Parts: sequence; structure tokens; C-alpha cells
Amino acid sequence: MDRKPFIAGNWKMNTNSAGAAELSAALVERIGAVAAVDVAVCPPFVHLAVVGELLRPSKIALGAQDVFYENDGAFTGEISAAMLVDVGCRYVICGHSERRHVIGETDELVNRKLLKCLTEGLLPILCVGELLSERQAGETRDVVSRQVRLGLEGLSGADAGKVTIAYEPVWAIGTGAVATVDQAQEVHKMIRALLAELYDTPTAEGVRIQYGGSVKPGNAAELLACKDIDGCLVGGASLKADDFAAIVQAGM
Ligand code: PEP
Repeated sequence: MDRKPFIAGNWKMNTNSAGAAELSAALVERIGAVAAVDVAVCPPFVHLAVVGELLRPSKIALGAQDVFYENDGAFTGEISAAMLVDVGCRYVICGHSERRHVIGETDELVNRKLLKCLTEGLLPILCVGELLSERQAGETRDVVSRQVRLGLEGLSGADAGKVTIAYEPVWAIGTGAVATVDQAQEVHKMIRALLAELYDTPTAEGVRIQYGGSVKPGNAAELLACKDIDGCLVGGASLKADDFAAIVQAGM
């Protein structure tokens, strides 16, 4: 099945308002008209509205880096799915490894966030991936399967089809250590087989699975050439317009 490549940039806790505006304008100029690849950027919450305005004339979609599962009320510091819809978000990163391992998010919490995104019409990007110690202990398959199963718990096949899964080996995020194409493809294939088991083959064939972990212009093409790698979630390189544009172009 042909899956349209999907490249998303995760700006993490970077950029001030001037920098976010400058980066957005540079991306609109370089890749704003790209239609062969779905492209999204996920700035910090405080820049969503401004970046969303700047992206409006382009095909680049707006995403958020996180969401809370309640609608409104006494949840100091949190941001609801409806608020993200209101500022023009289409995608939401759920369960990024930095939220799992620095903030302490559990699979159950991540699942609640996915369910809320889907009820509000937002498209979740479910991040999964093993720690270096887990890979060395031969636990990659178990860890990633658990994160996918629990992350998607309670989702219908139709809703699962709206989710993008981002496989991001934690040891490759921000470290410069990229998984080899064989290592990445092996886990992507395993995730797709698991989706077929949890749902059915057409659903599994329709879900886009991104790779994330030190993706750069120099390694994007070989990763994207793999059968089960349908795009990339890009951290560091998404902060440089030329690099992010080159990664998008590698997906065309
Ligand atoms: C990420 O933030 O999801 C990521 C993969 O970061 P980097 O590309 O910097 O490794």
C-alpha cells in the first residue's frame, strides 16, 4: 500500500518568539508548497498561535508537543485538546520519550491523551522506543510492543488508522547515534505486524510509522527508502530551515 510520507519537526523547548517566527517564515519559503509529503512542525505551546498564522498560506501543518486529557478546569499548567484545535493544530505528539523518561508519563496516561485527541479531531503521533539498556538486554520487542498495545488501548480500527506511530530508539534521540537502517526497519516491521494482530492487515498497512532519532539530511534518504519507514520525526535538525527542508525533500 502506498503511504504518503510524513515528516514532522519537534522543536522541543527551543526558540523564542522572534526565532519561531523566523524559522516558520523560512520553512514556508522553502517547503511551503510541498504536496508529495505531509509536513508538520510542533513548536512550543506559547508559539503555536503565531506559528500557525505564519503557516496558514502554506501546506505545512501545525502540531503540538503534548496535550492533557481533560476538557477544562483546575489543571494548572495543562493545555486541552480543544485549545489546540482552537489555535489551528492538526497533530499532537503523545508520549515523547522525554515526557516518558524525564516527566514520568506512563503508558496509561499516554493512552488517555490519544483518546482525547481523537475525540477532538486531532491526529496523534504516538512515540515509542526502547532505552539503550533495554536494547542491550534484548527487550526492544517487548518494550515497543507494550508501548504500542497500551498506547492504542480502546481505539477502534478506524481511530487507529488516524494515528501515526513514531519509533524513536531513546539512545538515538539527540545523541547523533542513528539506528542502522536494518535496526530501524526491523522494529518498524514488527510494529506493523503487531498492528495487523491488534486490528487487521488493511489497518496495519494504512498506519504511517515514522522513524526518529538523530535524523539529518545525510541519513534521511536511506531511512525513508525502507519498506516500513513512512516518514521521520525530527528534533534537532528541525530547528534549521535548510536541514529540515532537505529532509522533507528526501521524502519526495
Ligand atoms: C525527537 O525529538 O523526537 C528527536 C528524534 O530528536 P533528534 O532528531 O534531535 O534526535
